[in-house]
Amino acid sequence: MSEKNSSAKELKEKLFARKKHGFFRMTEEQYSDCSSFCEDYKKFLDSAKTEREAVKTSVSLLEAKGFKEYKNGMSLSAGDKIYRNNRGKAIIAAIIGTEPIEKGVRLCAAHIDSPRLDLKQNPLYEDNRMALFKTHYYGGIKKYQWTAMPLSLHGVIIKADGSEVCVSIGEDENDPVFCISDLLPHLAGEQMKRSSAQLIKGEELNIIIGSLPYPDEEINDAVKLNILNLLFEKYGITESDFISAELEAVPAFKAKDIGFDRSMIGAYGHDDRVCAYPALAATLDCENPAHTVVTVLTDKEETGSDGNTGLCSDYLRFFIEDLAEALGSNGRTVLSASECLSADVNAAFDPTFPDVNEKNNCAYINNGVCVTKFTGARGKSGTSDASAEFVGRVRRLLDSNNVIWQTGELGRVDGGGGGTVAAYIANMNVDTIDVGVPVLSMHAPYEIVAKIDVYSAYRAFAVFMAD
Ligand code: MN
Ligand code: MN
Repeated sequence: MSEKNSSAKELKEKLFARKKHGFFRMTEEQYSDCSSFCEDYKKFLDSAKTEREAVKTSVSLLEAKGFKEYKNGMSLSAGDKIYRNNRGKAIIAAIIGTEPIEKGVRLCAAHIDSPRLDLKQNPLYEDNRMALFKTHYYGGIKKYQWTAMPLSLHGVIIKADGSEVCVSIGEDENDPVFCISDLLPHLAGEQMKRSSAQLIKGEELNIIIGSLPYPDEEINDAVKLNILNLLFEKYGITESDFISAELEAVPAFKAKDIGFDRSMIGAYGHDDRVCAYPALAATLDCENPAHTVVTVLTDKEETGSDGNTGLCSDYLRFFIEDLAEALGSNGRTVLSASECLSADVNAAFDPTFPDVNEKNNCAYINNGVCVTKFTGARGKSGTSDASAEFVGRVRRLLDSNNVIWQTGELGRVDGGGGGTVAAYIANMNVDTIDVGVPVLSMHAPYEIVAKIDVYSAYRAFAVFMAD
């Protein structure tokens, strides 16, 4: 009897898929590496709240590791480290491999834009002795989540003479912050009857920026004038300069550990810096790869990847064609032999909202980086759907390097869905699969990830680049 029991146990061990908590799949040393990696990740989050800041921070990290800005015509050879900055809003880094470029590149693609509130082009107005900014939200948000919390303001203003002003207010301990008001519960009876999508409407996302008048009792719009005067004194801008500005309001809080055990990180913009940073870090740590490594941190994913800094444009293809030509090949041959990890987040199972997921096919925090064969919605619409062969190849790679990983899809069938840049890269005839970190409260102003999963993403990208 007991013998039979033990053989059933062994058989189960052999035949069932393993689902151990990631913690039990790490050595003590790995867990300590994981913790220190996440300290660096938190610094990156705080210094890179927008796509522009993520590019700036990435350029300085890349240059510190010897990466040089690539100009067409530069000669390239194995071991060279280069990058191309696309308009300050997207960046591609590459390390030339020892193998011929015809063998394809190891491509990692993550995005550095996150849901936020953009200022309109004519944003500033005064209403009943308050000055406010009108906004147009960027990406998919639950609008009610963006009220009654501190916001900081980031971006650039191009003045009439063409000169540029960079803005970042609300991050320094001594800076003021901004805020969108919400109704008090006492008077919200009518508001609370609205559907939750309309609880706060788009045109109600107005940011409070001031309330003192310019000291002249005779003048109209004195609060607006006072704000414009402050802005003129600080930045030399006038109201018309907002027309050629990109100003983004984001949550003003910093990345913090979450939990008594400090096992998680709460921050704005994990989607998708939680993949962008590990991909960048793996690139920074990569030395003399066999295959040429290309890492792209792109913009515009949250609005559908259109525009010349998004991956529906040709900027990535042009870069790979330029590399191919510089190394005596052509883009078509290189792309067709390339492999890509599309590094984007997945929805983590949330015990408070279990019904949106199918429990055998969703990602759990602390189970490692999530490999997702397909995304899309309504019958896999809009996905590139990685082939069984390529999933098998990635599975062997991760297993043979003891990377903690899991598989999972975003939500129940017909429960909603979402896409990533995977399809646009796969459309260039590149074998592509989604690999990323599970996130709780995705697209909320404050998102949660588990440190083990962040570190597993780094390890996944590192072994892929080294392979
Ligand atoms: Mn994303
Ligand atoms: Mn997203």
